[in-house]
Amino acid sequence: MTEHLIDNKSHAKQVEELDKKHYLHPTTIPKKHVDHGPKLTFSNGHGIYVHDTKKETYIDGISMLWNVHLGHGQKELADAAHQQMSTLAYSSSFAGYSNEPAVLLAEKLAALAPGDLNSVFYTSGGSESNDTAFKLSRFYWQLKNQPQKTKIIALEQSYHGVTIAGQSATHLSAFHNFSGSSINGVFHAKPHVTECEKGNTSHPEYEGCIRDIVEKEGADTIAAVIIEPVQGSGGVHMPPADYMEAVRDLCNEFNIHMIADEIICGFGRTGKMFGVDNWNVVPDIMCTAKGITSGYSQLGAVLLHQDIRDTLVQYEEVLAHGFTYSGHPTACAVALKNLEIMERDHIVDHTKTMEKHLLQGLGYLKEKHSMVGKTRALGLLGGFEIFADSEKEIEFDSALSAAAALTEECFTRKLILRPLGAGVGKNIIAIAPPLIISKDEIEKMIGIIDDSLSALSKKLNV
Ligand code: PMP
Repeated sequence: MTEHLIDNKSHAKQVEELDKKHYLHPTTIPKKHVDHGPKLTFSNGHGIYVHDTKKETYIDGISMLWNVHLGHGQKELADAAHQQMSTLAYSSSFAGYSNEPAVLLAEKLAALAPGDLNSVFYTSGGSESNDTAFKLSRFYWQLKNQPQKTKIIALEQSYHGVTIAGQSATHLSAFHNFSGSSINGVFHAKPHVTECEKGNTSHPEYEGCIRDIVEKEGADTIAAVIIEPVQGSGGVHMPPADYMEAVRDLCNEFNIHMIADEIICGFGRTGKMFGVDNWNVVPDIMCTAKGITSGYSQLGAVLLHQDIRDTLVQYEEVLAHGFTYSGHPTACAVALKNLEIMERDHIVDHTKTMEKHLLQGLGYLKEKHSMVGKTRALGLLGGFEIFADSEKEIEFDSALSAAAALTEECFTRKLILRPLGAGVGKNIIAIAPPLIISKDEIEKMIGIIDDSLSALSKKLNV
């Protein structure tokens, strides 16, 4: 038994060494990784829990990358993948070839999506979905004899992926600092200024809002506005009341596509099937990925309004866009099973119910810890901010990396969360557990954050 453990331990060590030597990790500090090795190496998971090769157990408080909606170790999803892989693991969707899971999933997505979003273009993930949305929007305007409508407006603090177009729409500075290359014609509007989006050009913050950019650039040069219904990586920012409706009206007024980036919000995360359903807004294009398969397979889907579809299907040449894995049968079979389970187990309603408990827990933390300022959650997409002085909203010295220090405290207590906001000098902690989480498990998470806040306030003397 001991010998077996030693073997396992030395095996785990060997894997760590190989990791340092051969694996360049995404969104990781390379020097730190090479010097210290992986933070941990995941081995398996169950529900909201994940285990590592050292046999430690952690609560996954952020659903890995906001995507493991049905939690870890969901056997029905594994069985769906196994069954499809054993039958037809992969087939091409180019040149008119088709496969049944891709078709059935397209029908299902059209049924779930709001309004007339009836048509689906498949990708392998979120960035590809957003790039696809930009290209299809521009192509639509070409077909409508308005080829000059190419510009894209995104919001400040947005995250839309890391492909060159996705990164260009992303506003977070780290992604631009990494690589200067961006596509031309992408503008970033001040987020969440409702009054001026409604047409109040005398509003003090009019300059730099979406309407201002549209008026300066000319609506006839703008293809689309892209918005996350709730901004995720930018800091879990909710739009204020009426904002989404105001942007929809503005896009109608100026004949511009509204693209909803539902890559985090989609498939129940906000307590509705899609984020936009919280405001009854129907975008022209909706980009999805992540929760579509609960992360069990790589898939993205771009949903298009009937009007866009009607225009595209008149085209008599090759629609020269597509990925090897567009319409991947195994990924689509996993997505179908994922959506079936979500419906069968009433996951969206459950998420809305759990929102109450998460908000209660965050309220308790705010009450108890002077460090905790703003708290928020829509469904199970939540977060809170910490301050040196929360009443006066005085930020911590950025050298303290307070949000990262807090998530480290949580990590040592076996809870994985994510710090955000460092690029703009803020300390925001995101919480987005798997949607299958129970009330007791939320309380357990809150208990760990409570202890971690106490430990950090001692260390920082606040
Ligand atoms: N949009 C949003 C809102 C996202 O959160 C992400 C990923 N975190 C993406 C796009 C990019 O998705 P992917 O990493 O699958 O390319």
